[in-house]
Amino acid sequence: MKTFISAALALACLFFESAFAQTAVPRVLQIKCGTLIDGKNENARKNITIMVEGERIAAVGEGSGKGEVIDLSRETCLPGLIDTHTHVLLQGDITAADYDAQLLKESSEYRTIVATVNARRALEYGFTTIRDLETEGAGYADVDVKKAINNGVIPGPRMQVATRALDVTGAYPLTGYAPNVPVPHGVQVVDGADDARKAVREQILYGADWIKVYSDRSYFLRSDGVLDDIPTFTMDELRAIVDEAHREKHKVASHAMALNGVHNSVEAGVDTIEHGNYIADADLKKMAANGIWYVPTIFVGAYVAEGRAKAGAPVWLKMLDVHEDTFRRAMKAGVKIAFGTDAGGFDWGIDPAKEFAYMVKWGMTPAQALRSATSSAAELLGMQDQVGTIENGKFADIVAVPGDPSADISVLERVDFVMKAGTVYRKP
Ligand SMILES: [Zn+2]
Repeated sequence: MKTFISAALALACLFFESAFAQTAVPRVLQIKCGTLIDGKNENARKNITIMVEGERIAAVGEGSGKGEVIDLSRETCLPGLIDTHTHVLLQGDITAADYDAQLLKESSEYRTIVATVNARRALEYGFTTIRDLETEGAGYADVDVKKAINNGVIPGPRMQVATRALDVTGAYPLTGYAPNVPVPHGVQVVDGADDARKAVREQILYGADWIKVYSDRSYFLRSDGVLDDIPTFTMDELRAIVDEAHREKHKVASHAMALNGVHNSVEAGVDTIEHGNYIADADLKKMAANGIWYVPTIFVGAYVAEGRAKAGAPVWLKMLDVHEDTFRRAMKAGVKIAFGTDAGGFDWGIDPAKEFAYMVKWGMTPAQALRSATSSAAELLGMQDQVGTIENGKFADIVAVPGDPSADISVLERVDFVMKAGTVYRKP
């Protein structure tokens, strides 16, 4: 009997606790910003208070005087940054040997452990949302990293993921091994439209938000300055992939660095062009008309070019000039440009925010560069109602820097306050 009573009491307490938890008032915070760039208004505003209730922004203005104060009066507050091209499962692959070693000598489990650290680094650099564009041979590990972040198991940005990516036989590493030696691949290998369709279905089944394709390979600079390539998929295959993804309400990101890869991707109707070192004027025109995004990933190219030129291959510096010309023509053509870095393609110990300085060097205003990583990137992800600006009702994703990004964009490499969904991950 006694046991029964205490059990009943315990049960009653449980009921009471859960009822209490459901009606609990969300935590209220007031963030006092010396300067606010909200990502929506053109001009910065001085001495603004952002009211945060629970995960969301409740008000932006004078503040109500209620709640715990976070003093950022010497800082510039900005919307949480968004990187639309990362690889948390990769840890730098300047040479083919670096890449092969990760796939041959590291288990997926080990790589996933490293990925959790990379995800935390991304958040600490100020990237509160990322689109992770394939696991490079680590299967569906990105889906699990995303799940662990969403379940509060590990800190990290909110993620959209692409899982395994697609390419054709013979086009993607690991290559160069003897025919009788089975080696892993950095992608899911597909040949033929039906095979490609099946892979799209499979990847979506196991958690892909995006479908990633590699549309070209084997780049060479022609004497007329055009960066040429070997396209990987047939048009039939590429169209099947885009059709199947779109039919299932998913979008397609295409790695396309040069002439044919970009052209075929645009013709097939992909949603984003990744890298786009060379894009013909006619394709830029079509991208602008059809709303296809350009994610230029400049820094990673500059990073490997400088290294490789010093090692005796100056052609990489010429490729950088081609990229700059394309970037400037894309801006002139009115193509939508979103911030993406290819982090993971370079070591996660390097702050991906270095990309901003290159965008400004190549002709963007600091405000345009910042928008590419906030409101524009949010639009690319289809999350413009949730993130990308500091506005009532949106997730409280807020970062701060000790300076004025409109005067010196490189201050974004010194993010010292990070809040994601109302939780503080870094403080000055
Ligand atoms: Zn990439």
